Amino acid sequence: MNIRISLFLILFFCNQPITCMNEEEQSSSILIATQRGALPILLTAPHGGYKAILGASIRKKGCVTSDLRTLEFTQLVNEELIKLTGEKPYLVLAEFQRKYLDVNRMQKNAMDPDIDNQAAECIYHEYHRIISTFTRELKAACKNALLIDVHGQGASATTIFRGTSNLKTVSRLIDEFGIESMTGNQSICGLLQQNGYSIDPAGNQEEDSRFGGGYTVRTYGSHQESGINAIQLELGSNFRFEQQEQCARDLAKAIVVFSDKYLRSK
Ligand SMILES: [Zn+2]
Repeated sequence: MNIRISLFLILFFCNQPITCMNEEEQSSSILIATQRGALPILLTAPHGGYKAILGASIRKKGCVTSDLRTLEFTQLVNEELIKLTGEKPYLVLAEFQRKYLDVNRMQKNAMDPDIDNQAAECIYHEYHRIISTFTRELKAACKNALLIDVHGQGASATTIFRGTSNLKTVSRLIDEFGIESMTGNQSICGLLQQNGYSIDPAGNQEEDSRFGGGYTVRTYGSHQESGINAIQLELGSNFRFEQQEQCARDLAKAIVVFSDKYLRSK
């Protein structure tokens, strides 16, 4: 396992660790897995965790089901990237269950607002503070660095939906290299298509509004001055279960080819 499970980072980044969780809870709550990498790639997975947030209530509004096996999928992509390149990507993985906290939403919709939800609020801020720190680092190292936000969807078992707010969250990449960088034969989605994957949209069409890009890509995408290019990938269940290892390998290979073509420039 190459992931540094980082309670340290949670505590390091938290403004007010003493008020976020009591000592007993802190010692047993490792809720965000992070890895500082060397590749210009940040993998995030907000909805695949299994752990409870002690002291947090279950959300009464919004989707509370997990994106099953996306945590494992993202860890596999991480391991494949290390095998292929000898270097680590950046990682931020939510290990807590979405029913307590949905970090892919604005704070007011991310947790139950009706009660004092300090535990969930603290984790929310830490998750975003770490992504924000990593994106700043990545942007300084590589202007076209890429964030991939990994999700699962139940609408089509054999489809991967791309979400970029119709290319807005990858605008820096598009400005420099054009649409080829997103749909061409050395783009991540294009390479997956060449391997037989069904990608929606297949080309330059409108993205499906259900999966067109959530809070993470809209907050950290390259349409924002401080952001980096950001793509949300919504995996059908086939790619998270029976074909999980193969799909993770194929995505990692696609990321490497894409990076060699588009992420070399500073
Ligand atoms: Zn999701």
